Amino acid sequence: MSIQEEVREFFKGHYYEIVEDERAQVILLEGEPIASACIEHGSHDVFDLNCPHVRDLLKKIGYF
Ligand SMILES: [Zn+2]
Repeated sequence: MSIQEEVREFFKGHYYEIVEDERAQVILLEGEPIASACIEHGSHDVFDLNCPHVRDLLKKIGYF
């Protein structure tokens, strides 16, 4: 998985990974997004990936 420069990687462990850009933050467990938040909505429901800010971030990290 390649991460572009504008995406900051907060934490990367064996199982968990936290990435964020200027609009959203996503927590991934074994590569699957499990929780997210953004500047517009705050925290989203668990496994809710419908937010456009979150989708943009996931695209940047190659999830979609
Ligand atoms: Zn949102």
